[in-house]
Amino acid sequence: MSFPRYRSTREAAAAAPLDFAEVLLAGLAPDGGLYVPDRVPVLTPDEIAALAGQDYAAVAARIIGAFIGERLGAAALAPLLAESYRGFSHAAVAPLKQLDAGLWLLELFHGPTLAFKDYALQVVGRLFDAVLRERGERVTIIGATSGDTGSAAIEACRDRDAVDIFILYPRDRISEVQRRQMTTVPSANVHAIAIDGTFDDCQDLVKAMFADAAFRDAHNLSAVNSINWARILAQTVYYFAAAVALGAPRRDIAFAVPTGNFGNVYAAHIARRMGLPVAALVIGTNRNDILARFFATGRMTIGTVEPSLSPSMDIQVSSNFERFLFELKGGDGAAVAAAMRAFRATGTLPASAAEWREATRLFASCRVDDEETRATIAATWRRSGELLDPHSAVAVAAARMAARQSGAPIVALACAHPAKFPDAVEAATGIRPSLPPILADLMERQERVTLLPNDLNAVEEFVRAHARPVEDGRRRRAGGAA
Ligand SMILES: *Cc1c(COP(=O)(O)O)cnc(C)c1O
Repeated sequence: MSFPRYRSTREAAAAAPLDFAEVLLAGLAPDGGLYVPDRVPVLTPDEIAALAGQDYAAVAARIIGAFIGERLGAAALAPLLAESYRGFSHAAVAPLKQLDAGLWLLELFHGPTLAFKDYALQVVGRLFDAVLRERGERVTIIGATSGDTGSAAIEACRDRDAVDIFILYPRDRISEVQRRQMTTVPSANVHAIAIDGTFDDCQDLVKAMFADAAFRDAHNLSAVNSINWARILAQTVYYFAAAVALGAPRRDIAFAVPTGNFGNVYAAHIARRMGLPVAALVIGTNRNDILARFFATGRMTIGTVEPSLSPSMDIQVSSNFERFLFELKGGDGAAVAAAMRAFRATGTLPASAAEWREATRLFASCRVDDEETRATIAATWRRSGELLDPHSAVAVAAARMAARQSGAPIVALACAHPAKFPDAVEAATGIRPSLPPILADLMERQERVTLLPNDLNAVEEFVRAHARPVEDGRRRRAGGAA
């Protein structure tokens, strides 16, 4: 059996394709593009029907295995996946709850950091470790976070032999729960760094470290950010699991996805390309609505990021959209590269009327402002006794809008636990959600964090002093990226 190979969204078609392990470790392509598979495996309706009733790890082995098989060196895929979800606090891993006639909530907050990013990163951290150990290599992972990603990455990499991880966050600009999730992990290979600056400063420091070739190569820098193909792949799993639980492939299921970087909803699109019958994919955005404006008008124009109740969606440029743009442009890497250059230069992404029509055939979108988010949290609590975090509320509001139009059963994705955003939930319902048992003592745990100025030399010096040395024999070819 042959498995997909990968190329960059910005690359000429003639370049030699890469295999999964190379794409996993590299993250971003050297030309600035994102890796995409040269084909998407398709499951027959019988194969999809056979997923019903299987446990989540078994569904994951079937879906992820279609892309990578057992080619993971010493570690076989199925046990690696079983291990990935073992620490989750719900036996179903991604349980469905019914909210209303035809409306379900898919709870993706039962992982160690209470946000859906665990569902991919727990797998990706183990894949990294398996591939690196097989190759006899080690890496230093560096990332910047505005909240959820950093803690999920830390939980995924803690205590892994082949990985050291350094996460930069803006001091005093993330919630206490988010901070403590990063600073209370006692593992020696984990380093939380508070930067005296903004999230953009943190991101610029990370980019500068990757741009410093001597530093990058000395420490084998790598990243597990949201553009890594393996994260998309791991996220396709819960779309299959939820849809078959609700009767797919006999009936089509719609999904409403709270969207920032376009990674999660793009994973749903990949599930559809794999043969899952999807009635609609509804993108929910907050007031940072560049995607909703694109789908409404055909024009994607960058605005300024404004704070909202759902901070994990407070972004203007959705990096994973480039993968979809590559499809819209028929796999023409040169055309994608030109479009992305124009986007960067002018702030507007050139898209033809035909491309826009095709995009609106595949995705619907809905902008949900803070007031409607609050109202949705309150109404859902009143009507069905469920507490929604603000991101999940955006999805539920978008799902209700879509359900009025189509009538297909729809699943709204609950991407964070309400206790991660207790102030917004309490303001809307009067109820302060409490942390689940796995994190109940978070506020008492010992914190360990280093405060550094917004200064490249200071951060590089800290990494040099604390990363375990990478011996020459364990060095990987350059190619990692932020
Ligand atoms: C990351 C995140 C999102 C946005 O997901 P994308 O894949 O970036 O579109 C939405 N909600 C929560 C809670 C998140 O952590």
